[in-house]
Amino acid sequence: MQPIHYIYPELGTPRKIVITTHQKPDPDAMGSSLGLYHFLTLLGHEVTVISPTNWAAFLDWMPACEKVINFEMNRERSEMIMNSADWIFCLDFNTLHRTKNLAPVVERAGGVKILIDHHQQPAVESFSYGVSDTGKSSTCEMVYDFIEESGHGHLLNKDIAACLYAGVIGDTGSFRFPAASADLHRMVARLKETGLQHTLVHEHIYDSFYENRLRFIGHVLTNRMEVFYEYNTALIWVTKQDLLRYDIKTGDTEGLVNYPLSIMGIRMAAIVIDRDEERKWSFRSKGNVDVNTFARRYFEGGGHFNAAGGRSSASLEETLRTFRKVLKETASEFQLT
Ligand code: 5GP
Ligand code: MN
Repeated sequence: MQPIHYIYPELGTPRKIVITTHQKPDPDAMGSSLGLYHFLTLLGHEVTVISPTNWAAFLDWMPACEKVINFEMNRERSEMIMNSADWIFCLDFNTLHRTKNLAPVVERAGGVKILIDHHQQPAVESFSYGVSDTGKSSTCEMVYDFIEESGHGHLLNKDIAACLYAGVIGDTGSFRFPAASADLHRMVARLKETGLQHTLVHEHIYDSFYENRLRFIGHVLTNRMEVFYEYNTALIWVTKQDLLRYDIKTGDTEGLVNYPLSIMGIRMAAIVIDRDEERKWSFRSKGNVDVNTFARRYFEGGGHFNAAGGRSSASLEETLRTFRKVLKETASEFQLT
């Protein structure tokens, strides 16, 4: 993978560009994709954002979100556009399998692949150009850097700002995580100067759910949480029946994993959701508890030091048993005792 600044001189020549991101895009994935979409469109490129899957309804407000193609619903059209792209930007993931069923399509496509991402252990051989920086708060911050460093900072506008701000608050827990640097706060000041209404972005993302979701959270915290005080860890599980009973949709479980971290002393929180095709894990931690390694080693996943995800094809009961077992065996290695 060559450094991304090699493509800066090429940005002035109009091209067909596809932007893609990880499956079930979160605010950082969708915000960085649409922020870059607006920027490249202003430069005169023909740009299409293709999401590997559907996404949470709380992202639909983002400017141009209605133009994003859901690959699972439009396979032929997506493949056609992907195959005719000169450039394929890959945002907020660093191994192709994170794009699920879209992965073979991206892999086969002839376009130049360009990575912008902040996760650990990038598969650099899959990309021709790119930037991978685990020190960055969010891919949105990196798209901002891309716009500024390529010499086009004057093109920043309110639409780009709203998209990028959404990803920043999503990935930094609204500026509370250590990755929220002075540079990031300077970036937000610059976004505010474009006319960004940050309060609206917070409301779109955090205050736009139905009553059922709050009742569901109440149910889960009351009946589906186990606290291991000896390991400073808490575990939440969600059954298929819970998802049906509360009519839970994509995005409704986002953020649930953070609740146990508000218990004094808890330094690792895990949640597993019994989805149709797999058991999907999320891990969050505080301080020196490395959930990237934990997820990678035991749950086919990875991510960041303090926030990672994984999966299991075992039953819910079995994957819960595995979690309890490895927690007990590795608690001291992971600094949980
Ligand atoms: P979440 O728990 O919100 O799904 O994901 C937490 C972080 O880990 C995100 O940055 C996400 O992109 C990453 N992540 C989630 N699931 C996986 C996975 O299965 N593999 C890898 N490598 N990263 C993941
Ligand atoms: Mn991210």
